[in-house]
Amino acid sequence: MVDSAPVVVVGAGLAGLRCAQVLGDHGVEVVVLERADHVGGRLHSFSVDGYRIDQGFQLVNPAYPEIVATGALTGFDLRPFPRAVVVRRDGRSLVLADPLRHPGAVVAATRLAPPASWARLALGLARLRVAPARRVVAGLDTTTAEGLRRAGLDDRMVANVVRPFLRGVLLEDPLDTSWAFTRLLAKSFTRGRPSTHPEGIEALARALAARSGAELRLGTRVTGVSARAVTTEDATVAARAVVVATDAHDASALLGTSGVNWRRQFTWWWSTPRVDAPGRLRLDLDDPLTTSALDFAAVAPERAPRGRSLVASPSIEGTAADTGRVRERVARLYGLASADVELVTTTEVARALPRVGPPLVSVRPNVVDGVVLAGDHLTTSSIQGALVSGRRAAATVLAQL
Ligand SMILES: Cc1cc2nc3c(=O)[nH]c(=O)nc-3n(C[C@H](O)[C@H](O)[C@H](O)COP(=O)(O)OP(=O)(O)OC[C@H]3O[C@@H](n4cnc5c(N)ncnc54)[C@H](O)[C@@H]3O)c2cc1C
Repeated sequence: MVDSAPVVVVGAGLAGLRCAQVLGDHGVEVVVLERADHVGGRLHSFSVDGYRIDQGFQLVNPAYPEIVATGALTGFDLRPFPRAVVVRRDGRSLVLADPLRHPGAVVAATRLAPPASWARLALGLARLRVAPARRVVAGLDTTTAEGLRRAGLDDRMVANVVRPFLRGVLLEDPLDTSWAFTRLLAKSFTRGRPSTHPEGIEALARALAARSGAELRLGTRVTGVSARAVTTEDATVAARAVVVATDAHDASALLGTSGVNWRRQFTWWWSTPRVDAPGRLRLDLDDPLTTSALDFAAVAPERAPRGRSLVASPSIEGTAADTGRVRERVARLYGLASADVELVTTTEVARALPRVGPPLVSVRPNVVDGVVLAGDHLTTSSIQGALVSGRRAAATVLAQL
């Protein structure tokens, strides 16, 4: 019975889809069971009144090696954001950008941090860009806050530039994330421009699903697993092997594995008259609640009705009660009247990123009672990490078969 059964993957997030893709490439029949009515897991997008919203504020970095390996970016309508940031501080807006293209950026930069600190940051990033990933993670790890201190960046640089940026990426503020992981992320930022898609972030998962060739059963919640069978709310499905590719919380419910600490994110999605044609990230140093704002329609006008912008402002501690305050901040960031900033919707992801503390452990055991595990909690909390975990799970299954 079991030899003719498919491999069953629980969860159609990036980890499960990548696992299915690799198994499919080896001629293995795969069935993916997903409780939601869409693929992508934490990569979810939906429409509200003609605006295309992502469930969480997140961007695709096409420099992640594992995304490239999936082939999903071939023919993918990637829309990169410019490498420029507008920082608002003490009521002034300062543009940080390539000084060769924006000569005024040099003056703006020195208002935020001393030239020597900029030189140190630029040199550090240039080295990261060419360093092999294994060298980036080598050596004793520490927290990101401590790593920044040891890197010799002065306090103004950290407070005015690095910390507000990292808050938005790591979704935490003490900066207690692994320094090795932060350096890996910084390396990927030096190599690829964070991007979006006209259909929203879920398009990446759909592109991967299309390449996996696996049978997808959406709306199918798995209630129990063993090494050779999966139980759903309606049936028991025999399997040659079982892969649990859920997040850490759901894996714990199915297998009793240990949980993780989660980073959350709350995002306001605003409609405004068309603003800021280049789509630069805006950092607000005058109000730490709304660290940043980004106009998705600037690079993907399809995501908003004609003539409108879609500005997202994510926060790590905000709630719906802060809407009025955030509206004011967004209006000031873009030089608009508050009445021009209309709320489209808010999104909250309570389990957004599993905490990656030091020391970085990017390969964890992935078999429990004969069941194979995948998911970003086994590697690093990122698109890259989820995809790598899926490929590793496939290798484990192939070895089992
Ligand atoms: C707000 C936010 C911002 C982010 N920003 C970035 C970013 O900018 N860059 C980056 O690289 N990464 C970012 N990430 C991280 C990245 O999205 C995740 O690391 C990655 O998508 C995790 O994929 P996964 O497959 O491991 O898990 P998930 O996406 O959680 O997939 C698990 C799947 O399992 C399904 N499932 C669970 N239980 C069951 C069950 N019992 N039966 C059937 N199905 C089940 C779920 O419905 C889900 O579809 C962000 C994440 C969030 C939420």
